[in-house]
Amino acid sequence: MQLTSLTLPAIAAGLREKQFCSVELTQAYLDRIAQLNGALGTYLHVAAATALEQARVADKHFSQGETLSPLAGIPVGVKDIFCIRGVPTTAGSKILEGYVPPYTATAYQRLADAGAVLLGKLNMDEFASGSSGENSAYGTVKNPWDLGRVPGGTSGGSAAAMAADLAAYTLGTDTGGSIRQPASFCSVTGLKPSYGRVSRYGVIAMASSLDQVGAFAHTAADIALVLSAMAGVDRFDATTVDRPLPAPAEYLEQPVAGLRVGVPKEYFADGLDAGVRAQVQQAIGKLEELGAKITEVSLPMSPYGLAVYYVLMPSELSTNLARYDGIRYGKPAKTNDLVSQYLQTRGQGFGPEIRRRIMLGTHALSSGYYDAYYLQAQKVRTLVKQDFERVFEHVDCVVTPVAPSVAFRFGEKTVDPLTMYLEDVYTVPVNIAGLPGISVPCGFARPAEGGSELPVGMQLIGKQFDEPTILRLAHQYQQATDWHTRRPQL
Ligand code: GLN
Repeated sequence: MQLTSLTLPAIAAGLREKQFCSVELTQAYLDRIAQLNGALGTYLHVAAATALEQARVADKHFSQGETLSPLAGIPVGVKDIFCIRGVPTTAGSKILEGYVPPYTATAYQRLADAGAVLLGKLNMDEFASGSSGENSAYGTVKNPWDLGRVPGGTSGGSAAAMAADLAAYTLGTDTGGSIRQPASFCSVTGLKPSYGRVSRYGVIAMASSLDQVGAFAHTAADIALVLSAMAGVDRFDATTVDRPLPAPAEYLEQPVAGLRVGVPKEYFADGLDAGVRAQVQQAIGKLEELGAKITEVSLPMSPYGLAVYYVLMPSELSTNLARYDGIRYGKPAKTNDLVSQYLQTRGQGFGPEIRRRIMLGTHALSSGYYDAYYLQAQKVRTLVKQDFERVFEHVDCVVTPVAPSVAFRFGEKTVDPLTMYLEDVYTVPVNIAGLPGISVPCGFARPAEGGSELPVGMQLIGKQFDEPTILRLAHQYQQATDWHTRRPQL
């Protein structure tokens, strides 16, 4: 039995039936990380000693015959944007080099309370800005399917670690696609829950009206378990809401026959690679075979999503990142006077993409431009949201591609930032509207320029707080297909 490629229920059963213990399982992951992390660049920090200690504690509870959470004793990898007390946290930025948080993010804390074992912190684009993993100050993450290609971003480390079986599941964040796009590029399952579903307390803020915590795993059923453990009201994050989330067993096996699935024509227009289109269309055919009722729908405002996002996100980012001044937060530059300390701390601590976004955001918020950019973008945001509300009067779920292409080569999109921003065209409307979205492996396609086939994901978008419907559809699609079981040759 390959311990590192089991699903969460299989691990939970194995632990309870004493086929293996948490220490053995944790050691198996640590060995695999030691073997592969050099080539893949996924973990920035491996917490080997504390992981084994947590595993020993879990084993002790198991041996006493206690009833434990289904996640007890199971190793998780966490994106390096979640603060965990005593564990170095960088958000992929030089400005946070050496930072050790004095407190812990609620989402992770809830998993720890359930008995999770922390393997370590995963590489990411600086302050969750990017779509390729190339913006980390600590080296790039490689796509396990082709080491010459990007894993996607910004939770590239979380997706690649999952694809390479370097954790049983991983955590990420998604502000404009940072869970779904890397999940698609690496052939793993990735969920961005509804805005308000999971607490962001202790997660380093990027764009606060869009940021959401989510998870990667091999299956939708695994993610359903993780979501149940993390979700819910948190008094430390006022945006969390008290909406019931049924237990996975109550919804995963509910029939999908008769479920109304909308296919928005705007998401299959120009700019979508033919290979990706073919795979997503085949997946839609599969959903129909499973009994879903497929109808074409229209989301005419979605094409404006990208423009809205690239005004709102930098505006919020520039505000959130103002705190890194070398005094309150951030590694201070060594200078003699205050002004040059601010300038040098920020000038040297932030990478080029972050500096670009701070300038864009500061400009969009500045007096004389605020109405034309920020306020206007907020108005269009409402229209994008209303588009979805209208469509969801007639369908239960919307299906789209996740990204216009398969994983691209390193350096391919770094010269022109706009080509990189276009990567997010199918994912940002979901954040703008606060909806849940999941990326599900649905095949492989050749890149437009030729070469070997690479993973493709489909995106299922649900009504606000209706994670159960998209998880159910994803789960039953995975029961009928085997794309999610494929693993890269490493
Ligand atoms: N690619 C998007 C960006 O660069 C998404 C980032 C995210 O979701 N954190 O902003």
